[in-house]
Amino acid sequence: MKLVFATHNQHKLQEIKMLLPKNIKLISLADINCTEEIEETAQTLKENSLLKAKYIYENYQLNCFADDSGLEVEALNGAPGIYSARYAGSQKNEADNNQKLLAELKNKTNRKACFKTIITLITCRQTELVEGKTEPNIYFFEGIIEGEIVHEKQGTQGFCYDPLFKPLGFDKTFAQMSPQEKNRISHRALAVNKLVDFFKQNTP
Ligand code: IMP
Repeated sequence: MKLVFATHNQHKLQEIKMLLPKNIKLISLADINCTEEIEETAQTLKENSLLKAKYIYENYQLNCFADDSGLEVEALNGAPGIYSARYAGSQKNEADNNQKLLAELKNKTNRKACFKTIITLITCRQTELVEGKTEPNIYFFEGIIEGEIVHEKQGTQGFCYDPLFKPLGFDKTFAQMSPQEKNRISHRALAVNKLVDFFKQNTP
C-alpha cells in the first residue's frame, strides 16, 4: 500500500519510513508533485493535522497522514500550543521562542508542561455507490509526554524547546539526551508507534 506523509520535512519522512512495516510504501509530497505549503489555519493541533491530511486526500485521493506537534504549558493556559513554532514571531526563531517562554514563566511556580503530537491518518475506502469514487476513513493517534520547564537552557542537542523541557521521571532535558534516547520517549515517537501498531494489526 502506498501512503503519503504530508510533510516537506525529509528528516521526519526518513525517520518514519524506518519504523513502518515493509508492505507500506511511504511517499513524500515531492513524489506526488505537491509543492504547496499547506497552511495550518486551525485552532487545535488535531484540527491542523486533520486539515493537512484532508488537503492531500481531497486533492490527490491517496492514502495519507499528517502530523502536528506543540508544547503546552499549564500556567500559560496551554500556550504556546499551535503557535509553538512562531511563539515569538513569524521569524520562527528558536532562541527567541525560548527566551519568550522563560520570560512568560518568570514569576510562575507551576512549571508543568507537555509536548503533544497528533497524527491524522486518512485511508481511501471504495464506495459501493459510485464506481471509482472513494470515501475517507479517518483515524487519530496521539502522543503526549509530560514534564516541566526548567529555569534556564540546559543541553545542546535537539531543537527549539528541547533545552527547556525536562520530561517527568528524568533528571535532564530533551537537549541533554542523545537523539536515540529522546526518540524512545518523545511525543512524536509515541504517536508514530500507535500508527505503526495500527498498520501491523490492520494489514491494508
Ligand atoms: P511540528 O508540528 O512537528 O512541526 O512542530 C511544531 C513546533 O512545535 C516546532 O517548530 C517546535 O517549536 C515545537 N516542537 C514540536 N516538537 C518538538 C520537540 O520535540 N522539541 C522541541 N520543540 C518541538
